Amino acid sequence: MTEKLYDADATLQSFNCKVIGLYTVDETTLGVELDRTAFFPEGGGQTSDVGTLQPLHECGNTGTEPVCAARDGEKINVENVEICGDHLLHFVKNSEENVKKLQIGAVLHGAVDWTKRFSDMQQHSGEHILSGVVHRQFGFNNVGFHLSQHEVTVDFDGELTENDICKAEDLVNEAIWRNLEIRAWYPSDKALETLEYRSKKEIDGPLRLVEIPGVDLCACCAPHVRRTGEIGALRVTAFERHRGGMRLWILCGERLLRDTREKLRQNHAVGKLLSCRQDETADAVRRLKEKNAALAFELIGLKKELLHTRAQTHPQQQRIVESLDADVTLLREYADLLADKAADFAAVFSLGDEKKLAVISKTGFDLAPVGARLRNRFGAKCGGRGGVLQGAVTATDDDLCALLSE
Ligand SMILES: [Zn+2]
Repeated sequence: MTEKLYDADATLQSFNCKVIGLYTVDETTLGVELDRTAFFPEGGGQTSDVGTLQPLHECGNTGTEPVCAARDGEKINVENVEICGDHLLHFVKNSEENVKKLQIGAVLHGAVDWTKRFSDMQQHSGEHILSGVVHRQFGFNNVGFHLSQHEVTVDFDGELTENDICKAEDLVNEAIWRNLEIRAWYPSDKALETLEYRSKKEIDGPLRLVEIPGVDLCACCAPHVRRTGEIGALRVTAFERHRGGMRLWILCGERLLRDTREKLRQNHAVGKLLSCRQDETADAVRRLKEKNAALAFELIGLKKELLHTRAQTHPQQQRIVESLDADVTLLREYADLLADKAADFAAVFSLGDEKKLAVISKTGFDLAPVGARLRNRFGAKCGGRGGVLQGAVTATDDDLCALLSE
């Protein structure tokens, strides 16, 4: 059995230990079992710690003494830690060299990636406060928690309005700033009978409680920050209805700082581009979009007028083939106008190699063979009837013009 150092001391970043088991998981991975570890395995919605194991000289130092100064060899990366049955396994790369270094009895120095662990603890402790506040204020239960490197989500079994969420966010941050002590312990079965606590699911083995006084009491196996002040702040960055309840995306501490920095940078840039204050960017963008829509509408009107004039002054021809920078509606409208001047048909296609195409005849000319040639030669997706052929084709201007004049 491995002594779980992280359980008693969530601030322990490094430790000495001995290998008590080495397992081949597969071709690429070894599972290392240690007599003691500060690496938190996956659990309670939180991903596992990562870090390094470094072989030490055979000095018999098992960690109660100061770290042995004379170290051997390269550090071995711990990629994941999991509890597999009765074993707590540290997963490392499967190599001949690692197998040699990690023989049973080998003395190692373990170091947890503290940046990741501290960030994880900030998010997780923040989640406990939020879940406690939502439970007390609105009576909803936390029914899902997910903490990965990319996002932190909390699911509740009831619907919250935007106002409710703001209210909860305020109460959470008040609790953070009160800098309350966070306590984790294993209560006796007797003590448990009298305690009211939140618990997501039945837990095997002894039950560990995490208490934030006056805010939350919850069964949880994960390490937490020592005091709520270490969380810094919590924000709900997004929310949506989810399975009859709500899913909230949250950020705490350093993740919140990084996220806010990037979003403020974006907003600052938008404000500069639109020459407005940073707290007025949404209004400025709305005005810009409205102006843009009015201009687009005006432009289409002008284009239509221009095409009418061009079509009216177009000379009579056997066949008219033209290209036009426009959408499919306008292509068709222009082809329809030009068809009045064509003995066979008028064809209009858009620019670029992937073209939209409209062919119209008002003289009863059979467009079916034209469509067949387009499909056979260029794999065009086109069809139509009653003097109209319409679709999409990938071809150069020259090749398309050549085909349409056949
Ligand atoms: Zn928890």
